[in-house]
Amino acid sequence: MRHCGSSSRLVSNANRNDIFKPLPFHDMWIDSHCHLQAPEFDADRATVWQEACALGVRDMLVPAVGLADCALVGACCARHSGLHPAYGIHPLYVGQAAESDLNGLNALLKSARPVAIGEIGLDGLVADVDFARQEFFFIAQLKLARAFDLPVVLHVRKAIDTVLKHLRRIRVRGGIAHAFNGSRQQADEFLRLGFKLGFGGSLTYAGSTRIRSLAQNLPEEALALETDAPDIPPCWLNRGNRMNADETSHHAFCEAQRSIPLLHPHKGRGVIDHRERNTPAQLPAIGAVLAELRATSVEHIASVTRQNTLAALSLILAP
Ligand SMILES: [Zn+2]
Repeated sequence: MRHCGSSSRLVSNANRNDIFKPLPFHDMWIDSHCHLQAPEFDADRATVWQEACALGVRDMLVPAVGLADCALVGACCARHSGLHPAYGIHPLYVGQAAESDLNGLNALLKSARPVAIGEIGLDGLVADVDFARQEFFFIAQLKLARAFDLPVVLHVRKAIDTVLKHLRRIRVRGGIAHAFNGSRQQADEFLRLGFKLGFGGSLTYAGSTRIRSLAQNLPEEALALETDAPDIPPCWLNRGNRMNADETSHHAFCEAQRSIPLLHPHKGRGVIDHRERNTPAQLPAIGAVLAELRATSVEHIASVTRQNTLAALSLILAP
């Protein structure tokens, strides 16, 4: 089943034509984390979706960041095929959330079953979001995930051991730890608890040595691919094509990037301007980088990450 027509803009957004060529087959990739509901896409959402489809990104998981955002996610997923909603309250948005929003989420989960609860988790990097309040919302949503038997999509930053502690205590049916950036030992613990690990634009930066090493060495059944669009642009969307050009300044740039909270600039937290907006059409090129790291074919990466994401979300899609 083809969701979207062939597009003359097939590679208009592909900035890595030298490395990435469209696959000989279509409809294979899954973007396991894409905020297509974000305001960054208000002006051209249909085009962004179509360009991703044209490159074989047939399915996308679209996570919400708050209760009001769930409505936007739901509407977005209803409008375009291949989009699958996750409903939840993001740890960086618990300051704007009311405790009654958990009741609202509970009611929503009864009426409209998403493929996961998310994006939920803990963020120890951003100091102005109360950590105890993050934990309160995280724990409550883990309990909802258990009650509704849904997987979870996790945001985990500088709080991996605390997240693992709660996951050991409140067992859910697994899910995806998005934008994973932990140790191999922590990775193995997520796998033991039934999770896949999400890799995206970060692995395209030469300076991301730990992420690249994990992506290279983890068992392939651990891997999910994501863009986190409009955030975490791959290196070729940043400041020109520095990936192969100037490793020194590229590394300095990546170091600077790491100190900046990149999440959800549409809520006023980040610094990415429109020129640097990430889109789901970048997923195959990011997958090609993963294939290079693992010395395997792009087709194999597309297939494996698709199967892993389907397994993590208990998502059954049309063949
Ligand atoms: Zn996200």
